[in-house]
Amino acid sequence: MIKFIDSLKNLKGKRVLCRFDFNVPTDEHGNITDDVRIRRALPTINYLLDEKAKVVILSHRGRPKGKRLPEFSMEIVAKRLERLIKKDVIFIDDCIGDKVKEAIDNAPDESIIFLENLRFHPGESKNDIEFAKELSKLGDIYLDDAFGNAHRSHAANVAITEVMPISVGGFLMKDEITYFNRALQNPLRPLVAIVGGAKVSDKLGALENLVDRVDKIIIGGGMAFTFIKALGISVGKSLCELDLIGKAIDIIKKAKDKNVKLYLPVDCVVAKEINVNADVKVVPIKEIPDEFMGLDIGPATTTLFSEVIRDAKTIVWNGPMGVFEMEIFARGTMSLVHSVANTYALTIIGGGDTDVAVHKAGEVDRMSYISTGGGAFLHLLEGKELPAVVALENSKF
Ligand code: AMP
Repeated sequence: MIKFIDSLKNLKGKRVLCRFDFNVPTDEHGNITDDVRIRRALPTINYLLDEKAKVVILSHRGRPKGKRLPEFSMEIVAKRLERLIKKDVIFIDDCIGDKVKEAIDNAPDESIIFLENLRFHPGESKNDIEFAKELSKLGDIYLDDAFGNAHRSHAANVAITEVMPISVGGFLMKDEITYFNRALQNPLRPLVAIVGGAKVSDKLGALENLVDRVDKIIIGGGMAFTFIKALGISVGKSLCELDLIGKAIDIIKKAKDKNVKLYLPVDCVVAKEINVNADVKVVPIKEIPDEFMGLDIGPATTTLFSEVIRDAKTIVWNGPMGVFEMEIFARGTMSLVHSVANTYALTIIGGGDTDVAVHKAGEVDRMSYISTGGGAFLHLLEGKELPAVVALENSKF
């Protein structure tokens, strides 16, 4: 059983070593373009401050591969956190060592101390126990709220739980696990999965696992064309992974055997190129011209998919229905976001592109839960355990 943050009380004088996933996107000038990951950490940080702890923050950003690269410094994140939380944040330019420990020990209770990028040290990505031991000197309690990194076995989320006396999950970790379990471990049915995005190869594990668990599965986006091709239908120049046609046939067959309803697009928006000025037309799925590619689901498919989800009690969605980054190919994804929002189901949105689509459609508040972890969420959809969650389960406290 994992212990969560709310089991911690009265933390005066305690140093809580917190792992967050503050791997925020930046533009070409190094400015943060989306700070939702920082905002989602605020309930945990505020709780710890209310309990009078010292909050010591660990995170990574980018892939500096064990080298100290200034473009991946955590300092910009520390500054943004300072603005969002409206409290001083002490930034320290390393994450291990005597000087870091001294600075933490000298800081008053209820202060926030933000340490430099974990991945500036090679031991982090290697799950090195010696590096974890160095980190452990900086805290009395370990807290993991980095769901976005939970599918990785790294020192500051796995090895560290072996050397800290107390390890707990934060509020974000708790929400992510709770909502996912409600959706897939013990769901209200019908349970519908919507899977989209570019390639079957990226989602094959998820599709194979979902077909065992759901009542209906909707497949859209570029990946649908491999399935359509598997049915013997010509897909023109659409994305199609010929080497996965056999796997697609297996999934279609398994769905049939298990009485899982599998839905594919019946029409699509096609163009000769992926371009905002492209000439587009809507065609039935059996009439994609040779030189065209399918780049969005068509209106008949939107109606069909909306009908399919209408009676759902639980919906899990990962991956867009088309190249939604361009307005001319976004209509299918946007319409489906509204349809999902209009259901009375528990609606769980996988991270990454689907999250962006829900934001674009202005439906964030009408979804039950939007996950912060693209890779970690997909890992769960594949039916795999998350190493960081297993580490918390196995920890001493
Ligand atoms: P994923 O990261 O696998 O969820 O894929 C998301 C990407 O798939 C988005 O960038 C979309 O533009 C892309 N995508 C969705 N549908 C299609 C399609 N029909 N053809 C090409 N790319 C697509």
